[in-house]
Amino acid sequence: ILYNQVQDLKGAIRVYCRVKPFSPGQSNLQSTVDYIGEDGNIMIVNPQKQGKDARKVFSFNKVFPTNVTQEQIYADTQPLVRSVLDGYNVCIFAYGQTGSGKTYTMSGPDLMSEETWGVNYRALRDLFHISKERAEAINLVPVSCTQDVLDLMRIGQKNRAVGATALNERSSRSHSVLTVHVRGKDLVSNSILKGCLHLVDLAGSERVDKSEAVGERLKEAQHINKSLSALGDVISALAQKSSHIPYRNSKLTQVLQDSLGGHAKTLMFVHINPEVNALGETISTLKFAERVA
Ligand code: ADP
Ligand code: MG
Repeated sequence: ILYNQVQDLKGAIRVYCRVKPFSPGQSNLQSTVDYIGEDGNIMIVNPQKQGKDARKVFSFNKVFPTNVTQEQIYADTQPLVRSVLDGYNVCIFAYGQTGSGKTYTMSGPDLMSEETWGVNYRALRDLFHISKERAEAINLVPVSCTQDVLDLMRIGQKNRAVGATALNERSSRSHSVLTVHVRGKDLVSNSILKGCLHLVDLAGSERVDKSEAVGERLKEAQHINKSLSALGDVISALAQKSSHIPYRNSKLTQVLQDSLGGHAKTLMFVHINPEVNALGETISTLKFAERVA
């Protein structure tokens, strides 16, 4: 109950922080994450500094321990996903530098293993499961079912395997948006409820080294930076209940407009990589996320 109250205080925008675990081969590496609290605090340590200056605490709605399972991540996302069936618009983002675990959270590492499924497959399965349950209670046959989705995903997986290299190459430098439109009937009032769920795996948030990026690559990077900062501006304007919300500053925020603000609910997963050489990006990622929280 206390947790819900905290969430309500912060309005409709929730920020969850997830720290990528070190892989088995990295077990001897030093971590920049000093402490993760159940209260939503995370302490970052800079090994090159001493004393008070070396540590900084950031606060979010939740910070997951590195060993959190995909199932636990979804358990904390499920209420938001399910509210789509009650006519809410919902936006779920993954934010962070390339390699910090955004795609792992949203899609998972392996589509063929249900245990490691990410938020998007679990959300679809959940929505179909509930709509089927509800449809059975009024003896209607659902228009689609989980099996359809699974079949679709298998096809997607085949295509993904073929296009894997190209996809990985591209995915860090473009946003991926999966949108689910849900239409339901309120059995009491007979009114039609429409909800929409956006599942967004954002482009990597890392700043681009201007000395290295030239031409198209530089333009693309600047475009990504612009859309991510426009997104930050929109979410922080919403968090501050500002009278002007600058949706029109980027294509991304225009596309998501209906699901950001108003009665919509927003969840941002902010991802960090605990390696020491990622410290600069980790700090700017957490600062960005704190600005919208
Ligand atoms: P991003 O999408 O942010 O660029 P990825 O999700 O592709 O990053 O993650 C980079 C690598 O780290 C992948 O090999 C992924 O499987 C692995 N990884 C990310 N998050 C986790 C996690 N929570 N547990 C185990 N491995 C992870
Ligand atoms: Mg990715």
